[in-house]
Amino acid sequence: MTERVALYPGSFDPLTNGHLDILSRARRLADRVVVAILENDEKTPLFSVAERIGMIREIVGDDPSTPVRSFSGLLVDFAKDVGATLIVRGLRAVSDYEYELQMALMNRRLTPSIETVFLMAKEEYSYVSSRLVKEVAKLGGDLSGLVPESVRQRLVTKL
Ligand code: ADP
Repeated sequence: MTERVALYPGSFDPLTNGHLDILSRARRLADRVVVAILENDEKTPLFSVAERIGMIREIVGDDPSTPVRSFSGLLVDFAKDVGATLIVRGLRAVSDYEYELQMALMNRRLTPSIETVFLMAKEEYSYVSSRLVKEVAKLGGDLSGLVPESVRQRLVTKL
């Protein structure tokens, strides 16, 4: 049987428990889930790509079924490079939908053989985003339970 590979792309700046929840659900759908960090020149990230890769690897370990990579260029091209037939994205609220729908339809137009699937994290993470986590961290708020402890520590050091 051929291995089913999924790609879970995002900024992961930084990784949150919402991301991890989606990742664990994606792992039930595919034999291998490639976590892919977009190298985006337009956004000014808090953590470098290398730092983000390091943080995610620290949590998921050296598991060959969950490799962590970075990419630039078209998502569908990277998906083809790693042999992925699924792109996994998370949906939190209706506000995510419009942008996600546009991306999914554009990616389908570019490469019809790759399917985008949307997963919902636990309700308790439905308001968790990297952006909000950074804001709360900057203002010294409590992030326990929302990000992994190692990420929380790095946020405190960084900010
Ligand atoms: P991007 O800049 O591509 O949106 P993010 O790192 O913010 O990158 O998010 C990556 C993916 O993870 C997106 O599909 C996003 O909707 C999903 N995601 C992030 N946080 C959550 C959460 N708390 N619950 C469900 N999905 C989430």
